[in-house]
Amino acid sequence: MIPQSTAQIEPLSLIKHIQHNDDWRTQLRKAYRSPAQLLAALDFDAQQILAMTAADQGFSTLVPHAFVQKMAKQDTNDPLLLQVLPQAAEAVAHPDFNTDPLQEASYNPQPGVVHKYKGRALLIAAGHCAINCRYCFRRHYPYNEQRRARSEWQQSLGYIESKPDIEEIILSGGDPLVLTDPQLFELISAIEAISHVKRLRIHSRLPIVLPARITHRFCERLASSRLDFVIVVHANHANELGDDVAQACSLLRQHCVQLLNQSVLLAQVNDSLAALKHLSERLFEIGILPYYLHLPDHVAGTTHFFVSLERGQALIAQMQATMSGYLVPKLAREEPGNSSKTVYASH
Ligand SMILES: *Cc1c(COP(=O)(O)O)cnc(C)c1O
Ligand code: SF4
Repeated sequence: MIPQSTAQIEPLSLIKHIQHNDDWRTQLRKAYRSPAQLLAALDFDAQQILAMTAADQGFSTLVPHAFVQKMAKQDTNDPLLLQVLPQAAEAVAHPDFNTDPLQEASYNPQPGVVHKYKGRALLIAAGHCAINCRYCFRRHYPYNEQRRARSEWQQSLGYIESKPDIEEIILSGGDPLVLTDPQLFELISAIEAISHVKRLRIHSRLPIVLPARITHRFCERLASSRLDFVIVVHANHANELGDDVAQACSLLRQHCVQLLNQSVLLAQVNDSLAALKHLSERLFEIGILPYYLHLPDHVAGTTHFFVSLERGQALIAQMQATMSGYLVPKLAREEPGNSSKTVYASH
């Protein structure tokens, strides 16, 4: 366990360590934006790069250095590299794989809000991410149409204000933590003003892929809020959880933020008992509880990541047989028309 008292960790030195030399926005600007750049950073030679680079099928390459630093050099099967490198297999078409498998387009009461389940509503807070994951179910999402001007925010918040049963708002995207602190703080203040909202949940991959985003200023704003905060991070493999990530998580926990993780079950990346067990154990070690393990959606361009429901259930059964219950995530899938995500028992 990471010690949680500030007496044991000196916050200023911690921040310096997290931020390296650049602040997070500079780090994001310097992220790798082509397969060739990414592969060169991993010491592949020109010929290998030529053989490995595939067209990106309309979903561009984007990978921050902090994530690439955790990959093995010259390893074409590195579980982190596989998540972000465009592969020729993305061009494989399959009749069961389409561009909006969750039919989210039909649950938008108005642009920017997805109110599908009772008690909570999802706000599309940002139109992009800090990393582009090749398996993403939103890789075909019309984000730009969902981009909100400030006046349009007021409309989304007005919708939430008119629904007193909404107790929790989920900021999603894209990735809400790509917003700057002033933008986020304005949004948090507007949400605090809606009296029936008790909790604010942030779905973000930035604490994992760009941990410098977790600044002291950000944490202090959350700690000073009347709302309870939950951050659901997204890590798929224990190798993603380096010391920089551990320190960002420790800072969040010192500011009373509850941390959960959702993963996607991905062929070659984490579809083994050893990989899933190691992931859960490392998450716990740095103060994050496993929440969901999502079965991959039928998204066009992602057939090479697919793992079947039966295989997922068998893996969960193996986890349950060998691990503490709270380290076993819920195996889930989103199915259009249900009142919650579907959770599958082990098999
Ligand atoms: C996943 C999801 C939620 C949150 O579901 P929980 O089971 O509470 O984590 C809410 N709204 C939408 C649209 C979702 O996809
Ligand atoms: S961070 Fe999340 S939303 Fe963004 S590309 Fe990756 S999986 Fe998709």
